[in-house]
Amino acid sequence: MSCSFDLGHYRVLLEAARTGGYRPAFFDRDPAEGDLLLRHDVDLSLDGALRVAELEAELEWPATYFLMTESVFYNLASPEGAAAIGRLRELGHRVGLHAVHPRLELDARFDPVLAWHNPNPDYMSAPVEDAANAMEPRFFSPETYRSDSNQHWRHGCPHEQLERGELPWLQLLTHPEIWAYHGATMRETMLAMLDAERDRRLGQLAEDRIDLS
Ligand SMILES: [Zn+2]
Ligand SMILES: [Zn+2]
Repeated sequence: MSCSFDLGHYRVLLEAARTGGYRPAFFDRDPAEGDLLLRHDVDLSLDGALRVAELEAELEWPATYFLMTESVFYNLASPEGAAAIGRLRELGHRVGLHAVHPRLELDARFDPVLAWHNPNPDYMSAPVEDAANAMEPRFFSPETYRSDSNQHWRHGCPHEQLERGELPWLQLLTHPEIWAYHGATMRETMLAMLDAERDRRLGQLAEDRIDLS
């Protein structure tokens, strides 16, 4: 089994977790034995997030999507952003804030949970008022945390350990863009995402009555 970064292997991961006896959990209480907290930091693409979200819904694995309000890549305040939040909710997912330190404005669109974007170690794990921080000590230990940063598992793809039920619980952080778009490296995946983005933008131009003839 090759541990590729695509939706096919994301499905394998979730099915492995089910085989291993894990169940979906969120950042609304301390993790317990058997919990799998699916966390997605949405840095670049709402479309990518929705592709992963649809697959999770099909497999009945709700996740927590951390969305940015000040991304340079997408506009959560646009109709497209509002529709993305609506669809995530409709699919049964939770929505947290992917916040840029020190700004923390958890309005009504969000559940009371945040994850800092590109955090510095000095505030990364610090508890915050009136919300859960996905990296505070109760949700994070090196043994119960895996992340796919830049299309690379620092401690290996967890699908086999999940399948064997070897992890007491797990916070699994994935970036949907890496899984929704295809490439053998982060560079290739990002180029695939940009190709899709170009098509999407052309559609938006047409909708905005820009003459593309
Ligand atoms: Zn794997
Ligand atoms: Zn981020």
